[in-house]
Amino acid sequence: NIVYLNGEFLPADEAKVSVFDRGFLFGDSVYEVIPFYQGVGFRLQAHLERLNHSLRAVRIKNEGNWNEILDTLVWKNGGGNLSVYLQVTRGNAGKRSHAYDDSLEPTVFACCTPIKDVWGEGAESVVPLKAIVTEDLRWHRCDIKSTCLLPNILVLQQAKDEGVQEALFSRNDKLTEGSACNLFLVKRGVLYTPKRSSEILGGITRELVLELADKHAIQFQEVDIDYEQLLSADEVWVSSSTRGVVPVVEVDGQVIGDGHPGPIWQKMFEFFAAFQRKL
Ligand code: PLP
Repeated sequence: NIVYLNGEFLPADEAKVSVFDRGFLFGDSVYEVIPFYQGVGFRLQAHLERLNHSLRAVRIKNEGNWNEILDTLVWKNGGGNLSVYLQVTRGNAGKRSHAYDDSLEPTVFACCTPIKDVWGEGAESVVPLKAIVTEDLRWHRCDIKSTCLLPNILVLQQAKDEGVQEALFSRNDKLTEGSACNLFLVKRGVLYTPKRSSEILGGITRELVLELADKHAIQFQEVDIDYEQLLSADEVWVSSSTRGVVPVVEVDGQVIGDGHPGPIWQKMFEFFAAFQRKL
C-alpha cells in the first residue's frame, strides 16, 4: 500500500505527519474522494474543480499538481478499481494557535483503497438502504468538503445503533442530504433533489444524475423537500462517488413506495452503467 505525502510516494506505515499539523489539531483541511475505474479517474476534472473550490473557500494554498500525483499513486498501487482519498491541510505551524501564518506550506496526503465497480456489477448487486432522519447540526458551509466531519460521523453511528445504514439530515424542516451522500426522490415519475446551496455538498454524482436525467428525458426539479414529501415519495435514492446511486426503501421505520428499488432508479442505474462503459 503506497501513499503520497508531501512530494514522496512511500509505504503507508512510513508516512508520518506532525502532531502540530493543523489538520490534526483543528480539522483545518479539505479533502476529495475520487473513484478510479481501470486506473482512470471517474469525473476527475469535476473533483479537482471542487477541490479548488474548497481550497479557495478556506484560503489554503493550492499548489498541487493533482493530475500527476493521483495518476502516479494509482499506477503505483496497481491501477484497477480504486477509491483515491486526497487531503490538503493548512500545514504544520509547529505550535497550537488558532490564528495562522499565510506562509505555511500545506500538507498533502493521498492514499487509495480497492472498490468494487458498482456499475459493472449490475443493479441486482445493489443492496437497498434503510435510513433515519436527524437534525442537521453542521455549519452553513457544507459546500466546502472539509474534514471536520463530527456531525456526519455521529449521525451515521446513530443510524447504525438503530440498525439502519444511512442518516439523512434535516434543517429547518427541509431535507438537505445524507451523512456522506446527496438525496433524491421520485414522485409520479418526476425526480426531485434539494437545490445546490451552501447547505449541501455539490456532489459530483448528483450532477451526473441530473445530466443523465436531462439526456434521457426524465423530468427533474431542484427544490426544497420536507419530511412529508420524503415519506410519501414513490422512490428515495442517495448518491455518492463510491456507492453510486442507491435506493432507500425505508425511512424512520416507514416503507417508501412498495419497499423495493423503483423503476426510475432501475433506469438511472442502467444510464450510469452505459455511461461508464463508454468511457
Ligand atoms: N454529501 C456529502 C456530505 C458527502 O460527504 C458526499 C460524498 O462523500 C456527497 C454528498 C456525495 O458527493 P460525491 O457524489 O461527489 O461523492
